[in-house]
Formats: sequence, structure tokens, C-alpha cells
Amino acid sequence: MIIVMKNGLQEETIQKVVERLRENGYQIHQSRGVEKVLLGAVGGEKSDYLKSALETMDGVEKVISILAPYKLASREFKQENTIIKVGNLSLGGEQIQVMAGPCAVESREQLLEIAAIVQENGVRILRGGAYKPRTSPYAFQGLEEKGLQYLAEAREKTGLYIVTEVMDTRKVELVAEYADILQIGARNMQNFPLLMEVAKHNKPVLLKRGLSSTIEEWIMAAEYIMLHGNHQVMLCERGIRSFDSTYSRNVLDLSAVPILKKLTHLPVIVDPSHGTGKWHLVAPLARAGVAVGADGLIIEIHNHPEKAVCDGPQCLKPQNFRNLLQEIKQIATVMGRTI
Ligand code: PEP
Ligand code: MN
Repeated sequence: MIIVMKNGLQEETIQKVVERLRENGYQIHQSRGVEKVLLGAVGGEKSDYLKSALETMDGVEKVISILAPYKLASREFKQENTIIKVGNLSLGGEQIQVMAGPCAVESREQLLEIAAIVQENGVRILRGGAYKPRTSPYAFQGLEEKGLQYLAEAREKTGLYIVTEVMDTRKVELVAEYADILQIGARNMQNFPLLMEVAKHNKPVLLKRGLSSTIEEWIMAAEYIMLHGNHQVMLCERGIRSFDSTYSRNVLDLSAVPILKKLTHLPVIVDPSHGTGKWHLVAPLARAGVAVGADGLIIEIHNHPEKAVCDGPQCLKPQNFRNLLQEIKQIATVMGRTI
């Protein structure tokens, strides 16, 4: 339930309501907007009596029951868009953020070369996996901590921020030391212990949609992270499984973008690389992602895609990446946004 407090109240009045809710087993998440203070009360038992009692308390404007199973992530709880700060960047605001880089960190030279390309193009976030979730246990699994160190070196040299995947609860602490954004991969979207672990760190989280997850399951996964203390969650549409993977690896569900924008206040990112699996489909779907209202894109690029150890067929070469950035700048302008 959401308790909407009147404007300009003393802290003491708000705290009395908070205490009353806590006594009834509720956990409180406050949302302090310019206009109003909202108290999101979750976890307690539903009670019409309590709802009426709260409505009579000093400072309470109204009490709203949230019908959706997710509460903190819902638009009802927070009407304004959440803007996530990564250093001096904002995600979810007017500026669309591009994240680009290789699928995997393969070597120091490979990463530094690609980081330079990312930076030269005015992009501000570098992607690259040091821990790779591979279908085959025989495939390259990532450079692990060495990969994280190369990412940190790339950040130092270029000023780019780093987004990288964490797959294991035992590694969250370590990855959080290096990453600016913690990525939860599609295969781990419902790894609840991992979600709760990343919630303990004060780092933005890029939560990818599960391979066959519904939108509601996905928002519920975000809710786990938020309920456990971290409200800096972005949702990343990366394509879902369907019956036909002949021409594209997944089906990039672009309708998810406006749906999520309506249901939640969280930033939404589109991944046209994993969404399609083919480099020639990346630009059209990236353009569409911007047109449909995404707050950011995450794109795999490589200086030598033919030699990439992972996802080469979906990596853009530097020139194609450059062209795409020019195109999406124009689309962003039409959408009233910047890049
Ligand atoms: C990735 O972005 O590196 C990745 C593995 O993507 P996904 O989890 O969406 O498959
Ligand atoms: Mn990949």
C-alpha cells in the first residue's frame, strides 16, 4: 500500500505514520518527490482496519492499495521516472546512454583497443564480460578477475564507466569493486540469492530479461533487488525465446519498452545484439529501440569480429557502430532526447 503524505509536514508527523506501519509488520520505502512524500508499505498483512486507521492519522492525504504484485517498482508508488546516476551520467533522463564493447574481455590489448573506439565515438559506458555464462562448459568462460582488472585499466585510460556481469553470489563483492554497473544476465534473472546479494551493494544494476520470462516475472525480479535495499535498477530487454530462431537468435520484444514505461518508473535499456544474434540486424533494431522510447542501448562491438571468442556474429565493426550512432542521434532528436 502507498501512503501519500500532505505537503510541508514536520518529520515527526511522517515518523508517527512510519511507526504505526512498522508495528503492523510493514517495511517502509520512502519516495520523496518535489511535491509529495510517499510511503511505500510492503510485507505486512492486508487489513482494511489499518487502512482506515491510517487515513485518519495526521498528515495522511490518502492511502492507496497497489493491485500489481510488484510494489516498489510500480508507477503507482513512484510517478516520476527514476534517474540513476553513474558518476556524472544519468540513466533514465533526457539523455539516452549507449553501452558498447565486446561480449567478453579476451585480452588486455583487445579490450584497450575496443575501449578507445568506444571513447572516440563519444560513448560513455564500456561493456565486457569477465565472467561469461556459456552454454557449453568447454567454451571460454571469461578471464575472471584478470578481466576485471583490464576493465579497470580501460576505465582509467579512457574515463569510460564499466558495466560487467556478475554470475555468482560469491563474486558480487569482488565484481562490485571494479564495476560501475552490475549486470545480471538473462540466465540469472530469477537467481534470487544473487538478486538479494547485489541489492546489498550501492551499485546500479542492469537486470536482463530472462530467456523465457514474462514481463511480470521480470519486474518481480527487479522488486527483489529493490525490496532488499537497492532501488537503482534498470531493465534490459534482450530478446526472448520463441518458436523460430532460423533468422534471428531471439525475438527482441520491443513492445516491452512502452509496457515497462507504463508499469514501472525504472529506466529501460534495449540490447539489439543478443536480441538478434546477427550483426546486420543490430542497427535496425537499435534504431527501433530508440524510437520506441528506450533510455539506453547495450551493443556488442569488436575490432575483429571474425576472431572474437564469443558472439562474433552479432558484433558490429567500428565503422558500422559509428554509422549507427549517427543514425540514432537523429532519431533521438525526433524523440525529444539527446545521445
Ligand atoms: C551479455 O550481455 O554478455 C550476455 C551474456 O547477455 P544475456 O545475459 O542477455 O544473454
Ligand atoms: Mn554476448
